[in-house]
Amino acid sequence: MRSVPLLDLKAQHAAIREEIAAALAAVVDSQSFILGQVVARFEEEAARYLGGGHAVGCASGTDALILSLAALGIGPGDEVLTTPFSFFATASCAYKVGARPRFVDIDETWNMDPGRLEAAATPRTRAILPVHLFGQCADMDPILEVARRLRVSVVEDAAQAFGATYLRGDARIPAGRMGTLGCYSFFPTKNLGAYGDGGMIVSDDPALAEKLRHLRVHGESARYHHSSVGWNSRLDALQAAVLRVKLPRLASWCEARRANAARYDRLFEEAGLVRSGRVHLPLRSPRSEHIFNQYTLRVENRAGLLEHLSREGIGHAVYYPVPLHLQECFRDLGYREGDFPAAERASREVVSLPVYAELPVDDQQHVVETIERFYR
Ligand SMILES: *Cc1c(COP(=O)(O)O)cnc(C)c1O
Repeated sequence: MRSVPLLDLKAQHAAIREEIAAALAAVVDSQSFILGQVVARFEEEAARYLGGGHAVGCASGTDALILSLAALGIGPGDEVLTTPFSFFATASCAYKVGARPRFVDIDETWNMDPGRLEAAATPRTRAILPVHLFGQCADMDPILEVARRLRVSVVEDAAQAFGATYLRGDARIPAGRMGTLGCYSFFPTKNLGAYGDGGMIVSDDPALAEKLRHLRVHGESARYHHSSVGWNSRLDALQAAVLRVKLPRLASWCEARRANAARYDRLFEEAGLVRSGRVHLPLRSPRSEHIFNQYTLRVENRAGLLEHLSREGIGHAVYYPVPLHLQECFRDLGYREGDFPAAERASREVVSLPVYAELPVDDQQHVVETIERFYR
């Protein structure tokens, strides 16, 4: 049987292995593993890639979100408006600083629906936390407009969207660079993935960046003097060394993912699966350049298709099978099934397919043929 993995990190590594080995060896020889020069260099290069601002590396994308809320002074009694259709950390970060998430339903691009924000706001709302899901930007201009009216901060969860852009007139603005703070993850499966955990926050506000630099080292102001209680959340030099090798290649990898996504669209259409309504292609927002961290369909009879794909050795995943408002640990928020119909429907109908940059064309054809066979 011919199998196709959902993601083949070995294929990417094979193309850069000498450079990676040299970069890792240099860190090992320096014996400087935590923060230090290599991390500082990566922060500079990443900020430049993202069009400026102050970049602060940290231990994970999850920590980037937690540190951001903490740096804004968000805590007990406060609420954060966010989407119920995302990875867990999008909502758990509010809990971790003692605040509460408050959800708003998604639109047809699966991102936060800006039209629902104002009605969901309360006097306790302190921030809006949009997610750029699967590598496509949420519609940020109306979100920023609501934030201005409410006088609250915007924390972008750009964990899946390092390298995606939002279109404003002729300008292309990087995901994570529109709100007060932008949060990134370097988890190995993200488009810019490290060889372990890593994360980063970027802001135009030097005071916030300074605060984040304190918070990631236990709130230390001077050696062993603590002005606040922070975290141990540092980016390590080995990860930064890997990321420095990968960053210059990110644009071409994202381009390859976009090309794969366009090819899938065409193949599914040619197979008649779109016309028959079995498969709904991922909707592109006209205002975002999608980088396809995931290529995600809505499909008919998902349970049957998932079984078929498993049997046929086609890598796939469901991001995400349970919307956040229905997670057991958030029961105390008082949400019920039916509260966010669009997110609930997406959770029941989505499936993500292999779309990684090195995916061979004939593997892609095989994926589509396998799906076509199921619906025939
Ligand atoms: C991956 C991810 C995170 C968390 O990043 P980690 O580095 O795994 O902690 C947060 N939000 C979203 C949307 C993600 O996809």
